[in-house]
Amino acid sequence: MIIVSACLLGENCKYSGGNNKSEKVLEYLKDKEYIAVCPEQLGGLTTPRDPSEIITHGDKDGKDVLNGKTKVVSNKGIDVTSNFIKGAEQALKIAQKNNVTEAILKASSPSCGCRYIYDGTFSKKKIKGMGVTASILHENNIKIIDEEQI
Ligand code: SF4
Repeated sequence: MIIVSACLLGENCKYSGGNNKSEKVLEYLKDKEYIAVCPEQLGGLTTPRDPSEIITHGDKDGKDVLNGKTKVVSNKGIDVTSNFIKGAEQALKIAQKNNVTEAILKASSPSCGCRYIYDGTFSKKKIKGMGVTASILHENNIKIIDEEQI
């Protein structure tokens, strides 16, 4: 079973109210079993919502959010760390309940990004690292890739 970022399937769960539909992902999943999740919605955030980033200080990422070493903040300065952690835990619970072994996640998201994330300065600058949900799935031995790796 595969877990997938819902926005990649065309669900309008993105912070802006839109989606990140990927024909490549849909084609890849055509004959496979999968479940769609949006961790930010699972964490109780509304859609649309203000965009948020992990405060990376240049080298921190989702695993540091999970360990309490940094936080996730919206562009209005609201601390949404607990929403991001709750969403990641919910996504993991769904994955474990469904024997998920693989995840296809939206690149660069503070939740779903698995190779790069925005650096927390809201200046479109990215650093190497994982989002909060990508980190928790990775820590639990689920293979994570983003849509650009398909
Ligand atoms: S990237 Fe992840 S958290 Fe963001 S809208 Fe897509 S599924 Fe939801």
